[in-house]
Amino acid sequence: MSSWGRLTRLPHEVTRPPFLDDASSVIASPGKPILCRGLGRSYGDVCLNADGRLLVTDRLDRFQWLDLQAGRLRAEAGMSIDRLLRVIVPRGWFLPVTPGTKLVTLGGAVANDVHGKNHELAGTFGAHVERLGLLRSTGETLTLSRDQNAELFAATVGGLGLTGFIQWVELKLVPIRSARLDTDTLPIKDVDDFFRIAEASRDWPFTVAWVDCLAKGSDLGRGLFMRGRWAETGGLAVHRSPRLGFAPELPGFLLNAVTMRAFNALYRNRPHGLGTRTQHYDPFFYPLDALSSWNRLYGRHGFYQHQSVVPFPAARDSVKRMLETTAAQGQGSFLAVLKLMGDTPSPGVLSFPMEGATLALDFPNKGERTRRLLDTLSDEVLANGGRLYPAKDAVMSPAMFRAGYPGWRTVEAWRDPAFGSDFWRRVTGDAA
Ligand SMILES: Cc1cc2nc3c(=O)[nH]c(=O)nc-3n(C[C@H](O)[C@H](O)[C@H](O)COP(=O)(O)OP(=O)(O)OC[C@H]3O[C@@H](n4cnc5c(N)ncnc54)[C@H](O)[C@@H]3O)c2cc1C
Repeated sequence: MSSWGRLTRLPHEVTRPPFLDDASSVIASPGKPILCRGLGRSYGDVCLNADGRLLVTDRLDRFQWLDLQAGRLRAEAGMSIDRLLRVIVPRGWFLPVTPGTKLVTLGGAVANDVHGKNHELAGTFGAHVERLGLLRSTGETLTLSRDQNAELFAATVGGLGLTGFIQWVELKLVPIRSARLDTDTLPIKDVDDFFRIAEASRDWPFTVAWVDCLAKGSDLGRGLFMRGRWAETGGLAVHRSPRLGFAPELPGFLLNAVTMRAFNALYRNRPHGLGTRTQHYDPFFYPLDALSSWNRLYGRHGFYQHQSVVPFPAARDSVKRMLETTAAQGQGSFLAVLKLMGDTPSPGVLSFPMEGATLALDFPNKGERTRRLLDTLSDEVLANGGRLYPAKDAVMSPAMFRAGYPGWRTVEAWRDPAFGSDFWRRVTGDAA
């Protein structure tokens, strides 16, 4: 098994049960350390448990109930956002928070407490979870919420799957009148321009910027700023299945500064790129889902993602320094994303977001050279009171993790002793 970054391929004892009862007996049976896994869209090792057991939940994808009047539902945790949207969008509902791919499960969204383009307004996914059903390896089933088993709820939302098997998720939805969004795309001249436009876009619920991370000097941080809000008209058509096929595995030599510069120039200057228009939620929220397995484009050695958040007021200069470092190394990526995060507190003790700026950069794995660059970026984040996102991480040191996530001891205290992951063993040095 490997994760989305495809950095390792390691043996696991895998089960993929079709029913909750089967899954429950796997969890309760003794054996090697166990971990649940959704659709494996985490980039690093939070969804890996090498030489241990993995319970893959994607067949556990049934609704338990759906209240279309109130916009509330309870579904098994293996349900994907993709499948959920196919049912709720035609009925005028959407998820309050969605990450940049719909190919994740509800359980994975809870365990990483994912965020979306509306973090400033809506907070994280976990902020909209009303209750969770958790099975511990003792066989005990618990209902968790802010009022019931509250500490375990806080350790489970963003708890990286370590507190037990999330059986079901109860969620509140948001009403939509259209499946389309009114959007506006603006050019960004440099990093200061990004902060100016982001500040001026506070009344747009969805915002994100793509940055040309190979640009230097006065162009540092140039890119495109995308903002959107739900449209009032346009129908409630659900997304289609991807039309583009399976991406090829590209040879490593194709991934160099020249090809990336060419890609960035094409992206920045793409026809009809700028200005206002109405578009369906699928290309707006999930542009990368158009090409299945795009992660293979980074070649057989896989790729890393650095996603950090740095709080204000250090954020602006820190983002500049990180982009300068990246551009100077010429190791930049196709996909560099910059976004502000808001101050809505996350319900989870280990949740990633904090008020500030988040920067996400992909790097093809070029061995030691790439790891040194990632370390330099991490040092910059650490020095400015920020942290790295576990869902994307494959290299963070224990010191970096402990500094960014003082709540880790709470999760460790609530960790189900039968559960462990490669990530947790790496960052806590624990025997998980
Ligand atoms: C193209 C792309 C765009 C993305 N954009 C964003 C974004 O905008 N914002 C963001 O926050 N993230 C983003 N991500 C990351 C992704 O949303 C998270 O990694 C998400 O958690 C993956 O869900 P999954 O179902 O694939 O879970 P996996 O990756 O399989 O597992 C993630 C974690 O959830 C745990 N888990 C899964 N199911 C259960 C369960 N039933 N019980 C207990 N634990 C469980 C696992 O143990 C693991 O710790 C993106 C990823 C991709 C590939």
